[in-house]
Amino acid sequence: MNQDQVVSLLDSLGVSHNISWTPKWASFSCPFAPWLHPHKQDRHPSFGIRYSVAEPYFNCYTCQCAGNLRRFVELCAKFLGTSPTVCVDGLIATKLEDLFPVTEIDEEVEMIYPEEYLDYFLPVTHAEHALKYVKSRRITEDLIDLFEIKYDPEKDLVVIPVRYLDGSLRGAVGRAPSKERRFHNYWEFLSGANIGGVHLLQPDITQLIIVEGFFDVLRIYPWVAEIPGAGVVCTFKAKMSAGQAAIISNYDAVKYCGYDNDAAGETGYQSMISYFGTLDGYSLRRMCHPAKDFGESTKREFLRLFKAAREEWALV
Ligand SMILES: [Zn+2]
Repeated sequence: MNQDQVVSLLDSLGVSHNISWTPKWASFSCPFAPWLHPHKQDRHPSFGIRYSVAEPYFNCYTCQCAGNLRRFVELCAKFLGTSPTVCVDGLIATKLEDLFPVTEIDEEVEMIYPEEYLDYFLPVTHAEHALKYVKSRRITEDLIDLFEIKYDPEKDLVVIPVRYLDGSLRGAVGRAPSKERRFHNYWEFLSGANIGGVHLLQPDITQLIIVEGFFDVLRIYPWVAEIPGAGVVCTFKAKMSAGQAAIISNYDAVKYCGYDNDAAGETGYQSMISYFGTLDGYSLRRMCHPAKDFGESTKREFLRLFKAAREEWALV
């Protein structure tokens, strides 16, 4: 898009703007601030459209809304009540497909985000307290590199990118580098449509361990790597969605549920049974530490749980 087209798009959507331009970005106040910002305004413009690329996208640093232009038009329709019939540079488009033919549209399918989104974060090695926290969780430098662990200075969060099967960026999860249990999902990231760590799985795994959170994945990753044919992923909470089950079903592997030994973990395990257990009574096993959260197990405890679950399977 050129600058005239950006202005034309905003005008036709009824978005008031006071754009400051760079060769890449058009920046202005977030049009969704009255609905999405804590103080209902955006005094220091935090909204930008990256217009100079083949598939322009937008991002707001304050409310984290982001996406392609279709998403932008949809949000304008939702919040500003603008008709999704927009006019750009003299062209009246009755269908959005005519304007932005690049993205396949499906409400169920999550956005793929440009790699540049990760530039908003620092390498975690640049933030001393965040790095200290990561190391206190016994996460090694190899794992920091492998999982691309970052730091968000604005929100003070340790950030882990979430990628799809093909490696495309689907979002990111953040966690406070302190005892405080503060989390954030970035860019309208829908955790139920993704599986954490799935892009790192070998295609021919035979044993797949499914845990609740990314930090549980990181915790046991080195131990799982020592088990031939095994891999570990997370569902971001103790519940598996149908979309996540569909992703998992790409793997012809025995599944091991490593959810915590609490009510949520048990309900989550039941949700897994509804996807896998009834199809094949042998394909799903529960690994559950009786006294601890799964992610707090020692290596020895983990290996014992895994072995017990695997042998139970072998005996059926
Ligand atoms: Zn905003």
